[in-house]
Amino acid sequence: MPSLRVLLSSGQIQARVLDMAAAIDRDYSGGPLYLIGILKGACIFLADLARALKTPVRIEFIGIASYGLGKSSSGEVRLTKDLDVSIEGYDVILVEDIVDSGITLSYLAQLMAQRKPRSVRIATLLDRPERRQRSVEVHYVGFKIPDAFVVGYGLDYSEDYRNLKDVCVLEE
Ligand code: 5GP
Repeated sequence: MPSLRVLLSSGQIQARVLDMAAAIDRDYSGGPLYLIGILKGACIFLADLARALKTPVRIEFIGIASYGLGKSSSGEVRLTKDLDVSIEGYDVILVEDIVDSGITLSYLAQLMAQRKPRSVRIATLLDRPERRQRSVEVHYVGFKIPDAFVVGYGLDYSEDYRNLKDVCVLEE
């Protein structure tokens, strides 16, 4: 049976999300700022981040699949849902749950740049830099984490565990 070990508690996450929102508020003023959540893992982080921001935001989602149903990356990136709106001329922040190899975000950052936004930045709750294969510039990072598979606060394992309040290491 797999077991869960808390890596980041709900309290730690909430405090860090407030810090990240304050940093974003310092960098943008006026708005509207498009927060583009990468489905499905970023939805809970995005919901908390959006509510912590004072900057007026608009919320959009984009669907990307880079992992299969297991723990290892397929190495393939597939667009499963595109934006519903034009972001031309707007400030955009791509909101991600975790940056691992960087394959997903390097693909997405390129795709978004083709849409002629005013600016594009990346905000991620978790960053695992030691597994990076593509270099991506990440402007707002919640926590750097070690090389262990994590679930909770939006992150899944075969679609389970997304609703955990903490980020936990899934141990076999
Ligand atoms: P990348 O393209 O950077 O390798 O992977 C990014 C995506 O892989 C994340 O959005 C997430 O869906 C998935 N991923 C990477 N590491 C983990 C992990 O430790 N746990 C879970 N649940 N998903 C992960």
